[in-house]
Amino acid sequence: MDLKKFIRDIPDFPKKGIIFKDITTLLKDKIALKEALEQLFSKVSGLNVDKVVAIEARGFIFGSLLAERLNAGFVPVRKPGKLPAEKISESYQLEYGIDSLEIHTDAIKKGDKVLIHDDLLATGGTVQAVCKMVEKLGGEIIGILFLIELDFLKGREKLKNYPVYTIIHYESE
Ligand code: AMP
Repeated sequence: MDLKKFIRDIPDFPKKGIIFKDITTLLKDKIALKEALEQLFSKVSGLNVDKVVAIEARGFIFGSLLAERLNAGFVPVRKPGKLPAEKISESYQLEYGIDSLEIHTDAIKKGDKVLIHDDLLATGGTVQAVCKMVEKLGGEIIGILFLIELDFLKGREKLKNYPVYTIIHYESE
């Protein structure tokens, strides 16, 4: 099944020059949703994961489904001001701007084996910030899993120290 057929390109969203990969068209299709989850799971089913750390908001969708499948816990990384308890934060450069992310300090225990998940790898800045926070809290990153990778932005080069898995690649815009 070609999952690319279910992903919709939205030109100039949220800013001029960005071609936004809209996954709502994949999520609403029950067959494509199941297939995407199966393909994602097959990349990491051999890993012994304690926590799936997923990035707000689109990372939460498959992140929580995967956590359940992997018998792991689920940890949300959120945008500033959303998490209620003690937290740390990290700033990062996005394909379209600068932002920061937060995680609860008690979300990761020292030595926890962590799988990080987000919907899409572009420049890699977002997930790099998440790696920093997970390692600050003593987590061991055993994999980073994406639904989509924009290969031409070379985000993978920022993640050389980790195993990176992706199921849908775009070699050019
Ligand atoms: P980056 O930090 O550049 O790797 O950007 C990755 C984050 O931004 C992910 O959370 C994506 O959801 C979002 N993102 C960046 N570029 C796009 C795009 N072209 N289409 C959809 N989401 C994107």
